Amino acid sequence: MPKLDEKLEPILDTVIRRNAGETEFHQAAREVLESLGRVIAKHPEFTDGALIERICEPERQIIFRVPWTDDKGQVQVNRGFRVQFNSALGPYKGGMRFHPSVNVGIIKFLGFEQVFKNALTGLPIGGGKGGADFDPKGRSDAEVMRFCQSFMTEMFRHLGEYTDVPAGDIGVGGREIGYLFGQYKRLTNRYEAGVFTGKGLFYGGSRARTEATGYGNTYFVQRMLQTKGTSFDGKRCVVSGSGNVAIYSIEKILSFGGKVVACSDSSGYIVDENGIDLELLKEIKEVRRQRISEYARLKGNGTHFIKGGSIWDVPCDVAMPSATQNELSGKDARALIKNGVIAVGEGANMPSTPEAIHAFQDAGVLFAPGKAANAGGVATSALEMQQNASRDSWSFEKTETRLAEIMHNIHDLCANTADEFGVPGNYVLGANIASFVRVAETMRSFGVI
Ligand code: GLU
Repeated sequence: MPKLDEKLEPILDTVIRRNAGETEFHQAAREVLESLGRVIAKHPEFTDGALIERICEPERQIIFRVPWTDDKGQVQVNRGFRVQFNSALGPYKGGMRFHPSVNVGIIKFLGFEQVFKNALTGLPIGGGKGGADFDPKGRSDAEVMRFCQSFMTEMFRHLGEYTDVPAGDIGVGGREIGYLFGQYKRLTNRYEAGVFTGKGLFYGGSRARTEATGYGNTYFVQRMLQTKGTSFDGKRCVVSGSGNVAIYSIEKILSFGGKVVACSDSSGYIVDENGIDLELLKEIKEVRRQRISEYARLKGNGTHFIKGGSIWDVPCDVAMPSATQNELSGKDARALIKNGVIAVGEGANMPSTPEAIHAFQDAGVLFAPGKAANAGGVATSALEMQQNASRDSWSFEKTETRLAEIMHNIHDLCANTADEFGVPGNYVLGANIASFVRVAETMRSFGVI
């Protein structure tokens, strides 16, 4: 592990002590702090007024009980969270995750990443994250609705278009957002469309929001490949996951002339050497809500389903981890490097372990960190907020054009910042430094708050 600057070491110690056992948050904080040595050497004013300590401490953390009744009439109890991390640049903005693994440490790491990701978009949004340890998998629509209504009955008082604007994340898609927004509207008696993003198109949603994270990551990687005089055209790609992010990364890769040979879900992965059939994948995942193994069963003909195992053993030129945190280990990175990977774009939040990131960088692989590469989702959420504020609705084309522009700007900002700080091609440092400076400068103007 790289050594931290001596002024930053005690800050990480405090994070670890104050947030005992929250390993994902420690990991995310360390990664950012590792990048800041170069900034404070140039700008010592950023260490004044405990500024970095303040950035590492959430402004507010809300934890609450979510009781609901299942279809058998049994009362179930879950735990709900919202970490309102930083509102220097705008109202707290970030998704809600419903997954059994959710705990305060996971939400805090996601909220922390979100602060920097949102700063990179250049749009007026602060950072936050929320969710619950509820598993929507295997639950009926009625159960999901009752859960969402109970969750919102506590959550609504902390939200508002000028306060905190959630969206979806793992386990929270269009169905959940509909139930959550419906309950917010009922409890507040306000049609406040700008309080939630990722909404359905009939009630204030934005075109291209569903596609935005996957498309955005693909635009980012395309731009990164262009810096080396190449492109997706003819490239062999592996995209982990099979949710929104993965599906729309695959769609955009195909439109750029790439070929996607593997994707996955939590049960295992499929390999289709003919190139994944996107329509079949969408039918299985979006319409039927079935497991990925179903793809191999229906497609047959040289398509394999591998239960468990690592999708990163499948050789590829471009890898796009788009499932969940720490899904790509140091060992996986070494397998990808051995098989000739040239670029990695993180569609998920923090999917590569620190060991994997260092392995990619040491091997000269183009590596796009999630907080830059997957910012297209939240950026399009900010475009949804713009449309809601002006009571307007943009065309798909206009929204996608803005998204592409934003992703190219983020790419160039990260690349230029890396150059400026003497680490050309290091998108991790570029992203961390550029976003930190935006948040830190703003907080300095506000004084000690
Ligand atoms: N959950 C997404 C993310 O990790 C989107 C958040 C949003 O749109 O607010 O960035």
